[in-house]
Amino acid sequence: MATRLGKTDVVVIGLGGAGGVAVEPFAAVGLKVVGLEAGTRLVARDFAPDELRNNFRGWPHAAQKCNREVPVHRPNAAAPDNPRGAIHPMMNGVGGTTLHYWAQSWRLNPWDFKVVSETTRRYGAARIPRGSTVEDWPFGLEELEPYYDKVERAVGVSGQAGNVQGAIDARGNIFEGPRAQPYPMPALRGTEFTDLMGTAARRLGWHPFPGPAAVNSQLYDGRSACLYHGFCNRGGCHVSAKNSTAVSTIPRAEATGNLAIVTEAHVTRIDVDREGRATAVQYLKGGETYIQPAAVVLLAGYTYENARLLLLSTSRAYPRGLANNRGQVGRHYFTHNQGGGVLALFPRKLNRWYGLPAQGVAIDNWADDNFDHAGLDFIGGGNLWVYSDQRPIAAAGMPTFGRAPRWGSQWKAFVAENADRWVNSYLQKTTLPYEDNYLDLHPTVKDPLGDPVIRITADHKDNEKRVATFAQDKMEQWFLEAGAVATLRQPVGTMGVSTHAYGGTRMGDNAETNVVDRWGFCHEVPNLGVLGASVMGTSGARNPTLTAQALAWRTAARLVADWRAIAE
Ligand SMILES: Cc1cc2nc3c(=O)[nH]c(=O)nc-3n(C[C@H](O)[C@H](O)[C@H](O)COP(=O)(O)OP(=O)(O)OC[C@H]3O[C@@H](n4cnc5c(N)ncnc54)[C@H](O)[C@@H]3O)c2cc1C
Ligand code: SF4
Repeated sequence: MATRLGKTDVVVIGLGGAGGVAVEPFAAVGLKVVGLEAGTRLVARDFAPDELRNNFRGWPHAAQKCNREVPVHRPNAAAPDNPRGAIHPMMNGVGGTTLHYWAQSWRLNPWDFKVVSETTRRYGAARIPRGSTVEDWPFGLEELEPYYDKVERAVGVSGQAGNVQGAIDARGNIFEGPRAQPYPMPALRGTEFTDLMGTAARRLGWHPFPGPAAVNSQLYDGRSACLYHGFCNRGGCHVSAKNSTAVSTIPRAEATGNLAIVTEAHVTRIDVDREGRATAVQYLKGGETYIQPAAVVLLAGYTYENARLLLLSTSRAYPRGLANNRGQVGRHYFTHNQGGGVLALFPRKLNRWYGLPAQGVAIDNWADDNFDHAGLDFIGGGNLWVYSDQRPIAAAGMPTFGRAPRWGSQWKAFVAENADRWVNSYLQKTTLPYEDNYLDLHPTVKDPLGDPVIRITADHKDNEKRVATFAQDKMEQWFLEAGAVATLRQPVGTMGVSTHAYGGTRMGDNAETNVVDRWGFCHEVPNLGVLGASVMGTSGARNPTLTAQALAWRTAARLVADWRAIAE
């Protein structure tokens, strides 16, 4: 027998990067919010500099819901499933994956909102890749800018602005769109290695700048500055210098008395009434089923779970899944083209044993439409990123650049000599949605509750592969300019389970091609909102979280401003 609880104003499913931000504006105005979170609460002492545990064993084990529902990937509808991964990269806990993410906190560039119209204007409509379902966003950067600004301050982001109200500052990203004010904190400090790379980039005529990070470069909001000792690549921060929502927006919302958090609450379905409005959510806790009625439901369980919960919540009003009468849930799915890095070997030690992956130097010259594509056979580009972060197991996994065998005493001697002389790069590239890349429920693979896991049918297309080769060319050029003696290109790979998964509940004015409207509420279910990168229709060439958080704040602000129309 399910226990029916008292009705609340808003229920938020998942208190991670997106849900964890949205609760602050609600609670501040006095709305009663229930946050249902599958994970537990983790505190500073739970975060240890343990590469084996953090990077390889999928911790924390206590409430790893993700690992029980790892999606299955196949590159296309005719191909067999690839072997299923044992560990999901995302995190369950109050704060979600922001507990252990790298914390790079990028805004999108202006072009990313207008890929179709800007490409058509500059190069002609024929340059939109065949089969792509990309659309312009329903608004431009200027609409999202105030929310980027709010989140940068609420969470705490360090960085060097490149464009404050149109005034270009070459110490920052000269390609970024105008921002109202500088970052609330200066950028994280550089290292000898990032300085080396920055100098080389300037010699090439490029524009290096320190990337933005949700990591404190100084005391912020009562939390410590970063100590730069590292090991927080997939690990949390024991001094709370990394600004997960667990240490920033969520505690402030709880302090109002208006946010009640239920941990280890696994939401299984969203209920609707005969008119098709969301009425409640069902969740399991300690083996019992609870029903939490709410005036408004906000779904924030990360891209895969957002699509899965909608598809699982079938009813007479929505026989193909909630908000899916037009068949758009799961469509326009893509992941960031994060593979295809370039590795380099230097003739001297680089001192990368300390530091964190958000402490680096970026190049945006070859991202988006920041360069002329007239003679090229692709649209978009890549952000080039090198950073400080090296750990023993990762270092020992280094390639030998064809200079030593992969085993035996010669290999050991090579690794001992070169473990601190090699470096990876992180190339994030434009990735577009395509007609035949999508999410649906797997026909046979289920989680322990008997619910199907998500099936990903997706692969990189020609445009993405060409962008990848182009970005690798530029990265190689940069490393060689900085003095590298050897470089190695990694394969682009396929579009499997990702930490940067987009789409599936895309945002747009056209209800025939999008699940949520320009405010983040479902076209078909006006009191059901969706938060996270699942609403994003383009990725740009940078990590998604700050954009997902700005959108989440905007959705929350809309609900506050328009409560009657949406909730009643
Ligand atoms: C190692 C790593 C490094 C990363 N680095 C960066 C970076 O540098 N910059 C960047 O922008 N992004 C980064 N990301 C991606 C970033 O973590 C995500 O974009 C972000 O966390 C997404 O926010 P979200 O709220 O959608 O999902 P999450 O933060 O994953 O939160 C979802 C929450 O929902 C809960 N949940 C899920 N299903 C249910 C359910 N059925 N019932 C109840 N609760 C549920 C989960 O437990 C979780 O707490 C990184 C990710 C990883 C794994
Ligand atoms: S390097 Fe900085 S963010 Fe990482 S654990 Fe140490 S103090 Fe925290």
